Order: sequence, then structure tokens, then C-alpha cells
Amino acid sequence: MKISSYKDNMAGEKMYKESYYNYFLEIDEVPVLVNLRTGAIAEVKRENVQKIKEILKGNIVDEELFEQLKYGGYIVEEGYNEYEEIKMRNYKARFDNSKAMFTIIPTFQCNFDCIYCYETKRNKIMTIEKAEEIADYIINISKNKKTISIGWFGGEPLMNFKVIEHINMKIIGESEAELFSSMSSNGYLLNYIDVSKFDELKIKNVQITLDGIEETHNKYRPLIGGGKTFDKIIKGIEKLFENTEKTNVSIRVNVGPENYDKIEELFEYLEKFPKERMKIYFRWIFQASEKNKDFHVHVRDFRKENSFTKLSKLYEMAINRGYKVMLPILNGDMYCEFDNVYNMVIGPEGEIYPCTVAVEEGMEMGKIENGKIKLETKKHLKWHSHNGYEDKNCKECKILPLCHGGCRNAALNGNRGCPEEKRETESFIKLWYKVKKFEKKMVVR
Ligand code: SF4
Ligand code: SF4
Repeated sequence: MKISSYKDNMAGEKMYKESYYNYFLEIDEVPVLVNLRTGAIAEVKRENVQKIKEILKGNIVDEELFEQLKYGGYIVEEGYNEYEEIKMRNYKARFDNSKAMFTIIPTFQCNFDCIYCYETKRNKIMTIEKAEEIADYIINISKNKKTISIGWFGGEPLMNFKVIEHINMKIIGESEAELFSSMSSNGYLLNYIDVSKFDELKIKNVQITLDGIEETHNKYRPLIGGGKTFDKIIKGIEKLFENTEKTNVSIRVNVGPENYDKIEELFEYLEKFPKERMKIYFRWIFQASEKNKDFHVHVRDFRKENSFTKLSKLYEMAINRGYKVMLPILNGDMYCEFDNVYNMVIGPEGEIYPCTVAVEEGMEMGKIENGKIKLETKKHLKWHSHNGYEDKNCKECKILPLCHGGCRNAALNGNRGCPEEKRETESFIKLWYKVKKFEKKMVVR
């Protein structure tokens, strides 16, 4: 076989180099080549491993493999600036105003007293008059847009369901853009409202948190004043599936030392629900309420160094049982939706917050009044001033194409905000590969 360097022999022709974002790993005894910039994941035949390593070093020992590696972005033209490409994709996403996206908090009130809740329970609740103004504003600025996306958040948003109905129905009736709505709810009140309206209200997804089985969930997520919530939530989900055709459910499981070993049992409760209408995801508990200040320290001590590897075992458990999952840091070209300069959270009095975690008093950066928005430019600029693409460490980071500089709320509070996938990138890639493999051949059991 002719071995020639693609750097030496290309006088007048294109020269190539290996991508900065490649990972070549052995996963379950299969060689896997991943590129984090393009998202390409390839299983490599064992007999091709050496040839591929040679090509990545600069020796074209196989023209066909060379072409395939080029196609997957594992090799790029010598002068190609991969960093500039991901930076441009990120800037496009951050300044994209082709979609109208809002998160609305119809109330800060909540019927739960979760051990890790960071929200300071406030009594603010949106009136129908304010809802009318907010809907007017949304309809007005969504002219010429194809879609409007509204995420309902709280407090517990179902404690003010009439406002949800009012805003969604007004938009459906008066805007030419198509509405896609979702909701983060604790699920308890699904038992007390007419959930059959969700299809008409275009509520396509409800995210509900279940923290393991009954025993641990009830400990982490009791009612205000005490009281169990697990059974009611399971009944609520059942009712939701029975009474809607188009509403899906995402189950979020907050993981801590008490429920880590009991997650397997949770799947028994979920077996009766339609898998094709569900997704599951897992997150470590990362905050604690004022009165449970030491709780996150307790969780941190449990997570230790191999924190992501620990979490990925739960994901594997879920896919092995046939559930679709949502992995962290795979949010396209931004770290999170609140990197987009037009995306914002609207509070019960029309006040504007930068993201769903930054909703404490003093974080307001504007207000919607009389159907118009007044933004405090100084605060808005400050929120969007964090830019991983101007940060020396981020520029050199191999997971920049997925992370894009991390959480801007953390950055504003003086932390780098590197996700744990940074420390355990190989573990993350292994899980990502398994999920992709599963998605391709997923059979609904
Ligand atoms: S992991 Fe950390 S260093 Fe890397 S891009 Fe994200 S925030 Fe920057
Ligand atoms: S805390 Fe960070 S990642 Fe979470 S919503 Fe706010 S900005 Fe986004």
C-alpha cells in the first residue's frame, strides 16, 4: 500500500489536519470515534483502527476512509478554523430573533416545600388584567414569526391555571404564529384541574419531578406543612395521559444520597405509562433551601470526583428499560436557552428576569406594562456580557462545542460554571454513544 503524507504530497492541492475535537475511545470493546464539533459518532471496524490512526496523523493509507473522516469532520482543511465556526454558530443562536420564546411565571406560590427549593416563597400571583397585557405584548412582537414558544414555570404554575388558559387561548385566537407550549409542574394539581384542555391549549410537554420511589420522594418533596405527594403525582400523570392525545411528559429525577440506590424501583411505577410519550432525565441536587442549607454539601460529599459516571449509570438503567432520555449539555449551539438575548422570563407582575434560576428580588431587569416592554439596559447587558468565546480557558477547552462557556448565572456570580462533563468527558461521550445507539433501534415495548 502506498503511504503518503497528505501534508507533503499536496503541492497546489488542499492539505488537511486532525480536528481538535476528536475523541477515539474503546466503548464496550467497540472502537468509537467521536467529533464534538460535528457531533459525528462512528463505530470503527477493528481492522481499520490502525489505518484511521495513520490518517489522523497525516498519512493517507486508505482513500475511502480518508473521505469518510473528512465527511465526519474528523479531519479538516489545514487553514480551517474550527473555533471560529463554533463561535459563529453560537453567536447566530444567541442573537437569533426568528422565534418568539418566553417563560412565564403565573405565580410564585407553591403547594410543595421541597428540601432543595431555591425560590423564596413569595405570594405574587398574576391577575387576568396583567395576563391580558402580557398576551398583547407577545402577540405584538410575534408578528412575522412562524412560532411562539411559551414555557410555564413557577412556583407551581397550576396554582394559577386560569392565567395559563387565558394567555394561551388569546394567542391561539389572535396570533398567526403557531403556539408551542410546555410546563414545569410538580404534578400534584393535575388531579384537580381539567387536563383534557391541554391539547386545545397546545401544551405539548409537561415536566414533572419524581425523586425516586415513594419513600424518598415524599422526604424530598413534601406538601407545605407536611404530607405525602408521590401517589397523587403518579395519579396525575395517569390522568394526563388518559385525557390528552398530544401532551408528553418529561420526568425529571433529582438525585441525592438517599434516592441514588432506589431509582431502579421508580421504573416499576412508570411501567404503566406509554414510553413513546415520555422522556426521563437525571440531575444532581445542586441547591438547598435556606432552612436546609447544609443539604447540598451532603449531596456534594456523596457525588465525589466521579460524579458524572455515577449519574450516567442511572441513564443506562433507563435506556436499558426502553426509556427515551435527555442528556445534559446537548442544547445545540448555546449552553442554555437564556443565552439568547431575546429570551426572557416574565414574572407575575410583568417583571422580567434573566433566567428561571435568577428570580430572586433584585434580579428584575425590566417590566412589561401596557403591552410594552421596558428593559433596564445596564442589567440586560450585564447578563449577556459573559462570553465563553472570549475566555482563554474556554477557547482551549475541548468541550467548547457543547458547553459554549457554561452557565452565565454562575459566571455572573463569580464561578466558571464548568459542567461536570468537563472533568469526565470520556464518561459523557460513552453515555452519548449508548443513547444514540439506543435511539436508532428503539422499540416501544
Ligand atoms: S467546560 Fe468550562 S472551560 Fe470548557 S467551555 Fe465550558 S465553561 Fe469553558
Ligand atoms: S442557571 Fe444557568 S443554565 Fe440554568 S437557566 Fe439560568 S443561565 Fe441557564
